[in-house]
Amino acid sequence: MEWWVSLPKVELHAHLNGSIRHSTLLELAQALGEKGVIDFSEVEHVILKNDRSFREVFKLFDLIHIITTDHATVTRITKEVIEDFASENVVYLELRTTPKRNDSIGMSKRSYVEAVIKGLRAVSSVDVAFMPDNENSINLVNSLPTTNDKCNVNTRKRIFVRLLLSIDRRETTAAAMETVMLALEMRHLGVVGIDLSGNPVVGEWTTYLPALKFAREQGLYITLHCGEVPNSLEIQNMLDFLPQRIGHAIFLDEQDWRKLKSDKIPVEICLTSNLRTMSVPSIDVHHFVDLYNAKHPLVLCTDDSGVFSTSLSNEYKIAATSLGLGKKEVFELSKNSIEFVFADSGVKEELRKNFDSAAKSLD
Ligand code: 5GP
Repeated sequence: MEWWVSLPKVELHAHLNGSIRHSTLLELAQALGEKGVIDFSEVEHVILKNDRSFREVFKLFDLIHIITTDHATVTRITKEVIEDFASENVVYLELRTTPKRNDSIGMSKRSYVEAVIKGLRAVSSVDVAFMPDNENSINLVNSLPTTNDKCNVNTRKRIFVRLLLSIDRRETTAAAMETVMLALEMRHLGVVGIDLSGNPVVGEWTTYLPALKFAREQGLYITLHCGEVPNSLEIQNMLDFLPQRIGHAIFLDEQDWRKLKSDKIPVEICLTSNLRTMSVPSIDVHHFVDLYNAKHPLVLCTDDSGVFSTSLSNEYKIAATSLGLGKKEVFELSKNSIEFVFADSGVKEELRKNFDSAAKSLD
């Protein structure tokens, strides 16, 4: 197994529908094509295209949503996404998704999230720990091997999963508030926070602010997609809000960088995503380099492993190669991500132990 794959990793910025397997997306599109819902020959071309502009990425998401948004499919892709991350030794995954309402198929935001939770429970190839108050028993209930072999139980892989509910920038204040209320109700099922995402050229910061403020008052963690396009006022407003993390952080000016650094707001870095969408022209001018050298808190992430054909192992490989990092530094970079997870201190402690025991076998 390649070293990058064996390395234990923490994924904090992965969108559910963006992480869908290519094979699953094509299979589902074909099935809808056969039913006459979509024209498969046109859709196939869009799915298989490799480099996409930012605008094209969001057009692809609209298509993916047509293909994936029913309860059974949401459950299926959740299960597959977790299996895929676990198979490359992601030991903690914060998965984010936008709860969607579709009256024509009886889907509410709540039933959408319930379908996601069903996907968490459906995973059997690895132990999934997602309920904060029930972390140990869920492993046993979820996936106890049928054998009594004690060794087998001890050697099964385990992945911690937490959920972030995303507010889409197209949504109204009321819809954003509905998502926050749902997150609060579903805390016992592993929902830990709120993300603001969606097409960055759409919507206004003031629309989401009341819901984000309320979420924070109620103790939910907040991460914001920030600075994906040049929008100085919004970037300042977002940094002033002091979210627990931000994603991307591309178009910040000198003053914004100073603020980000002095407030030590951790940044979710998505290298392949930024390069593929041409938001950053090349890896050597990516702000990751400066932030890493400045020892700013950061975490490498995939963003949309399906849409951008990447994996977290690949992101570590790219980062290490471009900065000339040795294995020890890469291991520390990965381990350090634990400090920015939105789970409690017990989980962090478990993860540290996990990394320490992996360190012995990773030379
Ligand atoms: P979902 O929330 O449907 O599970 O995941 C796909 C959605 O995540 C997209 O429709 C979009 O709202 C959001 N998303 C995925 N990638 C990006 C990104 O790079 N930037 C932003 N702003 N939003 C994204």
